[in-house]
Amino acid sequence: MPDDDRVYHYSAVLMGSPILLTLFSHNEALAAKAFRLIKQYEDLLTVNRADSEVMAINHAAGRHPVAVSRPVFELIRYAKAASLLGNSAFNLAIGPLVKRWRIGFQGDSVPPANEIQALLSLTNPTDVVLNEATSRVFLARPGMEIDLGAIAKGYIADRVRDFLRKEGETLGLINLGGNIQTLGSPEGGWTVGIKKPFGEADALIGSLHIENKSVVTSGTYERYFERDGKRYHHILNPRTGYPLDNELDSVTIISTDSIDGDLWTTLIYGLGVEKGCAALRARPDIEAVFVTKAHEIVCSSRRHFRFTLLDNRYRLTGNTV
Ligand code: FAD
Ligand code: MG
Repeated sequence: MPDDDRVYHYSAVLMGSPILLTLFSHNEALAAKAFRLIKQYEDLLTVNRADSEVMAINHAAGRHPVAVSRPVFELIRYAKAASLLGNSAFNLAIGPLVKRWRIGFQGDSVPPANEIQALLSLTNPTDVVLNEATSRVFLARPGMEIDLGAIAKGYIADRVRDFLRKEGETLGLINLGGNIQTLGSPEGGWTVGIKKPFGEADALIGSLHIENKSVVTSGTYERYFERDGKRYHHILNPRTGYPLDNELDSVTIISTDSIDGDLWTTLIYGLGVEKGCAALRARPDIEAVFVTKAHEIVCSSRRHFRFTLLDNRYRLTGNTV
């Protein structure tokens, strides 16, 4: 990103995350409107408070359908379709397990195995029943809960990009706690850092150069707790109910829409490097940077980005997609 006096940064804390908006004009009123927009979506989608449209659906689980606003309905429809993809690691009905583990929140603990089994029976995505005509959502079994935490930030980042464009801006960047969407491209493109997993807060292992793209990173280092020498992170395997266990420390997705990036970080996390690369061959619009526990960095085709290695303790391995 150009580092000159034309660049203005605005910050807020929303959705439990630091939010950063970068503009190329001094426009506090516009930044305030963008933050208000994010807050409106947070109020519709949050599951971290008792009242939101998503929580209204959850409270009515097993009892009755709930009519929701069109954007919420469409996001849930997208999330259900993604949950039903063959072998998908993403499951919009994962809520009961997320709430029980409480990873990243106070009161986290490792649930007993029989409790995990019982909660898994409440996470079948086909039990999320959608009525297209009335925008009603019904959770068929009591105790079910929708959780859109894995894609909502991506969805909201896209809405902020659209809002800035509508307001006549041609350049901007929104960073929703590591979920980045850009509008336009300054001279030289945007530079986005990739964090060093489990490193100091500002340590980077590399940077991406992109134009007009979203960059979303998911990592096991973001939200986790340790118990009896074992680390438990916040991306759960929807088949076992335990955190996904594979060779990855983080995955970064480069895509046009941030919702796709946010979804694909979870899908790829479930696949690991080899199968993840194979899946990307069918999606030339989606690219990835894998960071493994063995300090390897694997980039996809790099049609839509350039990568610069910044930490020589990491090894950039072959281009496998
Ligand atoms: P991602 O990897 O994109 O997503 C991981 C999250 O997805 C998990 O935290 C869990 O919620 C969910 N998940 C886990 N496994 C799966 C799976 N297999 N399939 C589908 N979903 C899965 N954080 C706070 O600390 N306080 C808040 O008040 C707060 N409010 C929020 C409000 C909103 C509207 C949103 C979108 C997020 C909020 N968050 C809050 C953050 C939230 O709790 C998650 O930590 C965050 O959304 C995870 O995003 P990520 O990009 O870091 O990780
Ligand atoms: Mg995600």
